[in-house]
Amino acid sequence: MLSEKIIQKPAKRKFDVNEIRKDFPILNLQINGKPLCYLDNAATTHKPDIVIEGTKHYYTHENANIHRGLHFLSEAATQSYENARLKVKEYINAMSSSEIIFVRGATEAINLVAATMGNGKFIGEGDEIIVSNMEHHANIVPWQMLCERVGAKLKVIPINDNGELILEEYDKLLNEKTKMVSIVHISNSLGTINPIKEIIDRAHKFNVPVLIDGAQTVQHSRVDVQDLDCDFFVFSGHKVFGPTGIGVLYGKTSYLNQLPPYQGGGDMIRTVSFDQTTFDGLPNKFEAGTPNIVGGIGLGVALLYINSFDINDIIEYETKLLEYATEKLLSINGLKIIGTAKEKASVISFVIDGIHSYDIGTMLDTYGIAIRTGHHCSQPTMKRFGVSATARASFVLYNTFEEIDRLYNGLLKIKKMMA
Ligand code: PMP
Repeated sequence: MLSEKIIQKPAKRKFDVNEIRKDFPILNLQINGKPLCYLDNAATTHKPDIVIEGTKHYYTHENANIHRGLHFLSEAATQSYENARLKVKEYINAMSSSEIIFVRGATEAINLVAATMGNGKFIGEGDEIIVSNMEHHANIVPWQMLCERVGAKLKVIPINDNGELILEEYDKLLNEKTKMVSIVHISNSLGTINPIKEIIDRAHKFNVPVLIDGAQTVQHSRVDVQDLDCDFFVFSGHKVFGPTGIGVLYGKTSYLNQLPPYQGGGDMIRTVSFDQTTFDGLPNKFEAGTPNIVGGIGLGVALLYINSFDINDIIEYETKLLEYATEKLLSINGLKIIGTAKEKASVISFVIDGIHSYDIGTMLDTYGIAIRTGHHCSQPTMKRFGVSATARASFVLYNTFEEIDRLYNGLLKIKKMMA
């Protein structure tokens, strides 16, 4: 099978950033005559050569449509795709691989849950859905659309000035009308790591299901959905060193079995006649049509890649990067960090007095430094902090202390120029 063929490295590698950087061919690029300094990892991560090789291997050795063919290639493609599902199951410790639904990304996963939960059984008129003030638009808009459709209400957990959830306010929002809690684990705009186990426990006291938006989680920390006891967990492949256009919806079997299909078509049915259609079981019920086969396979390989390290080494290294970058950036006069939670992942949003974040981003690009600027698809979070946009640097396992120095020096140059 593909993934076994291309992973020949020992189970747990020594954490050596110089060796890790060699795995990512794009990091050798020169941008505007300077070595690429890529600090936009919360938007998307780069791909290690084994993921690139994995997708090439699929197209050169296994390309066929899955599930329906009896020929050699179709069997091979099906096996690789289903093996990838198994890898996801193992990675997040789901009970069964049928609880792993391949979707386009975190956005589609949340839309799937919001749309199907509004189909009569779970959420209706007068019911309430709880999100927080630090959600990505992907975890706001699908719920708003549902509310609009069925007459439910969206309730919002406020956050304090550090960008932490105010849990006492969460307690006040939970009641018998609450039918869903949907919360981000790690905020893409603030870097806050939320106490999701606590949030899940409190919701379960009211028998309310919880969806965790893990779009910024899997690349930074371990996930164990059984230990968390979350009812749904979503993430995107492209943020965890895998391909774009593929993502995961994990759902507990008990919920997934009760939800109606999201889309209809081939592969999700048992029988079809003009009088009646019967649907297939999990996970096929939610995967209508030809899926992103190569994306699923690439994601499986990406998870094997992350798993080739001890996750504690990754966490320790990224924490050091975060501490170093925080200290450096705070030493710049007029720079303010937005999001100063005690529990933080390696994401730093900042503003500088008198300089628009777009100018910061544009000028840094001329030095070969890629950061993100704007509202980070979290306009309500920006509003909470009284800004329209921030500049955001986000680090993963292949970033270095030298790159943070380059960011720091770049910002000093920009300040001097704009003075
Ligand atoms: N939630 C969070 C916290 C995110 O950071 C993102 C991506 N920026 C999303 C959801 C949506 O992910 P995607 O665009 O990959 O569907």
